[in-house]
Amino acid sequence: MLEKFERYPLTFGPTPIEKLNRLSEHLGGKVDIYAKREDCNSGLAFGGNKVRKLEYIVPDALASNADTLVTIGGVQSNHTRQVAAVAAKLGMKCRLVQESWVPFHDAVYDRVGNILLSRVMGAEIELVDEGFDIGIRESWENALEDVKAKGGKPYPIPAGASVHKFGGLGFVGFAEEVRAQEAEMGIKFDYVIVCTVTGSTHAGMLVGFAKDGRADKVIGIDASFTPDQTRAQVMQIAKQTAELVELGRDITDDDLVLIEDYAYPAYGIPSDETNDAIRLCARLEGMMTDPVYEGKSMQGLIDLVNKDYFPAGSKILYAHLGGVPAINGYSYTYRNG
Ligand SMILES: *Cc1c(COP(=O)(O)O)cnc(C)c1O
Repeated sequence: MLEKFERYPLTFGPTPIEKLNRLSEHLGGKVDIYAKREDCNSGLAFGGNKVRKLEYIVPDALASNADTLVTIGGVQSNHTRQVAAVAAKLGMKCRLVQESWVPFHDAVYDRVGNILLSRVMGAEIELVDEGFDIGIRESWENALEDVKAKGGKPYPIPAGASVHKFGGLGFVGFAEEVRAQEAEMGIKFDYVIVCTVTGSTHAGMLVGFAKDGRADKVIGIDASFTPDQTRAQVMQIAKQTAELVELGRDITDDDLVLIEDYAYPAYGIPSDETNDAIRLCARLEGMMTDPVYEGKSMQGLIDLVNKDYFPAGSKILYAHLGGVPAINGYSYTYRNG
């Protein structure tokens, strides 16, 4: 579906799929849980789902002759860290706007984890005191103007690399990759679990899996806590991406499954149940998840299995999208493990 689009390789190649045996057994052995490890997809500063998206955005950035990538996220944004790494790799400058999206006050929150990595990679970082919003922000538009005013040529990348014309393509590629791996492994996944916030990861998967009739088997777990806005953004990106790749059919509301039950108490704040899920997965599988995103989708997966949401015998693919560096910002929460 992606033949006509240029891709700039930033990842190691297809990401591994591994079976989570001990987690599957712990949950009663009714379903088989696998993880596709987007968290191990690249050598660029720990990688993650934004690197896969950026592979289809970078050719456009290079063609524009820009010298500075400009993007936005929260203080512990994984996305801004991945853009900083890509800019370094390409020999470009990087300007990051990091807003106070998370009402969390760990003493080292703005000094460790993702933001530390971005600073070490040479990004210019501006901290802005604004709350969570996945839409287009004035602070980001101001940063673009500022780069221009100083004689630079900015290339704009929106939050999460989502509402960019090519933002959905990377995860169309994810679906194609899964299909090829299924053929190799001789199995077929009944469900895919994905954490959803700015929307293009889920949207790309919807389009990619619509090709073989599995769009509604992609189970989005909302971590934004603003699910109406996230749902609308997923739909908008999915429809636009479907047209772009000439899917041959529209994406409709029936295709979109977004479960809202696990994002509480706020974006970026883990509940006790999120922390239980993070610890359980870490202790059974040595697989780390983070308190902002993947811990919540792991919590959702565990709860849905416990509630028999999936028929017995289902094969479930948990898309591990990365994000572990952020856990360093939560040092007090995990001071005893
Ligand atoms: C950005 C991110 C997500 C959410 O992906 P969207 O495309 O923004 O919906 C999930 N998990 C991690 C680790 C992320 O960094």
